[in-house]
Amino acid sequence: MVYDPQNIFAKILRGEIPCDKVFENDYALAFNDITPQTPVHILVVPKGQYVSMADFSANATDQEIVGLIRAIGHVARAAGLEDPGYRVLANHGADARQEVQHLHVHIFGGRDLGGMVRRAPVMPPA
Ligand code: 5GP
Repeated sequence: MVYDPQNIFAKILRGEIPCDKVFENDYALAFNDITPQTPVHILVVPKGQYVSMADFSANATDQEIVGLIRAIGHVARAAGLEDPGYRVLANHGADARQEVQHLHVHIFGGRDLGGMVRRAPVMPPA
């Protein structure tokens, strides 16, 4: 897990490219996803350089972990999602199709989100 400081979220954190910011604390930045999949689709990223949840859970400090988790809860609450409900998701690695190699937690909400994971089509035996 080698961190690439040129990934798109690193550039957003450095202010090199813009984002639609919704929240920031000492440890995390939250902004709207550029291609929202639900009426509310917010990304929460740690300010530290962590590739994914695997990297973050193993190597982040307690303060960084608390800062990120508190940010997620705050953002969901501020977006009005606590009562209707919301989904939190973080993709790690190829099977989860992680696209951006800086940990980001998706917050989805604003409609009924349906079942949790859609099954991939099962290939018929050869
Ligand atoms: P992943 O598949 O890695 O979990 O999700 C990456 C997410 O980042 C996608 O939902 C995608 O729309 C979002 N994304 C990619 N590039 C940008 C960007 O430049 N700005 C914002 N706000 N979101 C981005």
